[in-house]
Amino acid sequence: MQDCIFCKIIAREIPSDIIFEDDQVFAFMDIRPVSRGHALIVPKKHSADIVDTEDATLAEVIVKAKKIAAVIESVLGADGFTVSTNRGEAAGQSVFHLHFHLIPRYKQDGLKPWTHHEVEPKKRAELAELIRKNL
Ligand code: AMP
Ligand code: ZN
Repeated sequence: MQDCIFCKIIAREIPSDIIFEDDQVFAFMDIRPVSRGHALIVPKKHSADIVDTEDATLAEVIVKAKKIAAVIESVLGADGFTVSTNRGEAAGQSVFHLHFHLIPRYKQDGLKPWTHHEVEPKKRAELAELIRKNL
């Protein structure tokens, strides 16, 4: 897709530190890592985000994400990893070509966990019902 930075990276019009490539999937190092070894994995076929992506493509990406993240953890001596994807600006998405962040985690890496809140059980149950009815 024109004007998509990740499509340009896949086409090698923009340089990147490539770590994996096959016919459907491309993985490279994040230019501004949140931890040592932070990588990104994307489908070669452009889609904006997880909802916009065909199931078969998504399956390819997530299976490779598992493999690559495990290798990163092992070779970098990490203590675990976080895999995440953002959909929409409100979620923090800044590049609108689906990508999963593969973030190696280290004990005391200082990355802040999610902030949890208390919720009334009745309100939680109402939300569950609303979601369940729409699946
Ligand atoms: P998100 O904010 O979830 O859309 O993530 C976009 C990610 O892409 C960020 O972590 C950026 O650091 C990363 N990024 C942006 N441009 C490049 C680039 N040219 N090469 C590698 N990573 C990039
Ligand atoms: Zn793209």
